Amino acid sequence: MNILVINCGSSSLKFQLIDSETEKCIAKGLCERIGIEGSQITYAPANGEKEEKLISMPDHTEAIRLVLEALTNEKTGVVKSLSEIDAVGHRIVHGGEKFAVSTLINDEVMKAIEECNDLAPLHNPANLIGIRACQALMENTPMAAVFDTAFHQTMPAKAYMYGLPYEYYEKYKIRRYGFHGTSHSYVSKRAAQFLGEDYNHMKIIVCHLGNGASVSAVKNGECIDTSMGLTPLEGLIMGTRSGDMDPAIIEFLAHKENKNIDEIMNILNKKSGVYGLSGNISSDFRDLEKAAADGNEKAKLTLDAFDYRVAKYIGAYVAAMNGVDAICFTAGLGENGSTTRERICNYLGYLGIELDSEANAKRGEDIVISTKDSKTKVLVIPTNEELAIARETSLLINAK
Ligand code: ADP
Repeated sequence: MNILVINCGSSSLKFQLIDSETEKCIAKGLCERIGIEGSQITYAPANGEKEEKLISMPDHTEAIRLVLEALTNEKTGVVKSLSEIDAVGHRIVHGGEKFAVSTLINDEVMKAIEECNDLAPLHNPANLIGIRACQALMENTPMAAVFDTAFHQTMPAKAYMYGLPYEYYEKYKIRRYGFHGTSHSYVSKRAAQFLGEDYNHMKIIVCHLGNGASVSAVKNGECIDTSMGLTPLEGLIMGTRSGDMDPAIIEFLAHKENKNIDEIMNILNKKSGVYGLSGNISSDFRDLEKAAADGNEKAKLTLDAFDYRVAKYIGAYVAAMNGVDAICFTAGLGENGSTTRERICNYLGYLGIELDSEANAKRGEDIVISTKDSKTKVLVIPTNEELAIARETSLLINAK
């Protein structure tokens, strides 16, 4: 089956066409600045040249139309007609408490996703627009919704409830949901498989360290805790998000800086994290590593604070699971940042962890980076959210 995976943001749209039998990506690309001047489509067939084209995209339907045109193009396309696209898998950010698993999309599901809009006002409406745009152009093609929150729905109430008046949970469903679920699920399963162990009898910690970053605790095949909360703002110090902090800071800053809630939230989401803490050096860890190597004290402090927070979450999840068998690193920084992994593991001597520096220097493959004698295994597992979405979609179609 050929499955088109769509990850639709408010002004961007990432796509991949995946052959579900071989699990190979046939073509992929990106539409940027949808609805904004200067929009651009990038299209890269697996066996051809990457193309970038500046072209007007007033809305998402036009973006999807261009994606489908690229995929079916006579010269550079990868399928002859739209009938060769068997299904579409959509990444949906927030499934609230309604969706603990992926689901085929129908009117009822669309309504339920819409009801989660409040919980992810920037993401869910864009995801819905992406679904509608596909439906308009591929009327009879089955579509699946794969939720970022679903994998975390197994968390027990003691992990997902905040210490807030209970009525806010009842009235507004304020609780911890967690995100990056598709990645945490994919990486934890893959780690067990790679180690040749039984996923349902393992304690695994996954550190998804990208621009957005989160840690999860997976016990016996189920997520029991994760660092992101009601929104992706909670938890680790991220590229530009603050992560955990005293909520009283919001009021304090609003008074001191004469700012309203929206302005403060914008600072916490877009101007904080390693970007803000470093004095605006960069949100990219490569720049921070370079600045730190050049002696910049703020960059050093920022990296220290980032690593320390990850190490603390790992410690918390070891406590939550009463042990850990494997710790996995994934996403942009987790997969590429060998020095970050080393510094984080330096905190974990109490787990009997010893890194194999040669293995830790490798890139781009599933690999154990701890030594044979290390009491806890440490792995790098490159995440593949698109493949995970294609797998889920294909399972749903086959079960129909
Ligand atoms: P997202 O999908 O959340 O935007 P990614 O998973 O693509 O993020 O991760 C992006 C981040 O990964 C970058 O901001 C950068 O800091 C980090 N990164 C990528 N490559 C490297 C590298 N070679 N060394 C260190 N950090 C890297």
